[in-house]
Amino acid sequence: MASPGLPPKLVLLDDYVSVIGQAEIDEMRALARRLGGRSVKMVNSTAVGGGVAEILNRLVPLMQDVGVPTRWDVITGGEDFFEVTKGFHNALHGAPYEVRWQAFEIFQAYQQQNLQNLRFEGDIVVIHDPQPIGLIQARDQKPGRWVWRCHIDVSRPHPLVWDFLVQFMKRYDAMIISSPAFTRPLPVPQFLFYPSIDPLSQKNQELEPEFIQQTLERFGIDPKRRILTQISRFDRLKDPLGVIQAYKLVRKYFDCQLILAGGGAKDDPEGGQVLAEVMEAKGNDPDIHILDLPPWSALEINALQRASTVIIQKSLQEGFGLTVTEGLWKKKPVVAGAVGGIPLQVIHKLTGLLCHSVEGCAYQIRFLLSNPQIAARLGENGHEHAKENFLVTRNLKRWLSLFHYLVGSGA
Ligand code: UDP
Repeated sequence: MASPGLPPKLVLLDDYVSVIGQAEIDEMRALARRLGGRSVKMVNSTAVGGGVAEILNRLVPLMQDVGVPTRWDVITGGEDFFEVTKGFHNALHGAPYEVRWQAFEIFQAYQQQNLQNLRFEGDIVVIHDPQPIGLIQARDQKPGRWVWRCHIDVSRPHPLVWDFLVQFMKRYDAMIISSPAFTRPLPVPQFLFYPSIDPLSQKNQELEPEFIQQTLERFGIDPKRRILTQISRFDRLKDPLGVIQAYKLVRKYFDCQLILAGGGAKDDPEGGQVLAEVMEAKGNDPDIHILDLPPWSALEINALQRASTVIIQKSLQEGFGLTVTEGLWKKKPVVAGAVGGIPLQVIHKLTGLLCHSVEGCAYQIRFLLSNPQIAARLGENGHEHAKENFLVTRNLKRWLSLFHYLVGSGA
């Protein structure tokens, strides 16, 4: 159980024996041993906030524990850089994009700056997402094996942004995507990895009911009334305004409260503006709780998810949506946008409900509130689905297998 206020404890692979069994753990240790001490360097663009940081915070210590020396570095960049990369991010998701040639120059300038500042000491270098993709330019000096882990939906990218990034992509030894729908015609082998959550992390571990109660009280939320929750960075692609509209439609029929909880990520400069729009849409409704949370809020987010009657993730575009996985793991009925990697998790009417519009979202929430037994069954199924497919231990095993593919097994 959680001890609020204490730092998270070190996580060891053996701690997962009750989740995945000893045989799986032994198998992973054997796989790691046969890598002969080869080391890994992970690079991404933010240490906190968002799904990639969430994954790396748990995966990297586990890789170290299993016997693969792994380091994790975060690139640096000014506001201008993160504005450019956020524009790229939206454009890769198919959003309208106004091409400014200066953006490509800014992007390149910061790649060069990071190439100067970072060391690529691993036998295998893994670069996450487009922000640091240009670091592949170091491969001439630092051969090794290079992997690009793409966490976003690139099935319908803006052609100019895509073409610009392809010059870097082509130079990697492998690319990893989160859904079969994201494959692209590229001269690079592509692998499917599901993102993952850690069942033992502060975000997902069991909590004492008293802590859940106290958390609700702290935020002024009534534990006795229904709670609809979306946890997300304040990002237009997460459609927080659509969630408020859906809540208002549900409110005509059911008494309920809405929580929209999110925080910032260093690589997302649009958060403040979107938060202001959300505050305006809330107006003076005391049952809409907008929580701007600091990065160290894992236990609070866990408590809010566990206290929820329904978890919403009404994204308009989504790479995978770890907040969906977190809801499934907690046996919650989830209503989520049928986009990106979400349908891999929410199998409609089996592990949750999918929606395509504000009205659809409201309809599915009303259905769940009217049918609590069905809601509970979806939650149970969702938990099993997450346990089978989306845990960090499964993810770790895939990484180990990929490393074998890249460097060959045996020392
Ligand atoms: N998250 C968080 N604090 C926030 C908002 C989100 O810790 O204020 C976490 C959330 O619990 C999840 C991750 O950040 O683990 C978001 O991952 P997801 O894949 O849903 O979306 P992304 O932000 O990567 O687009």
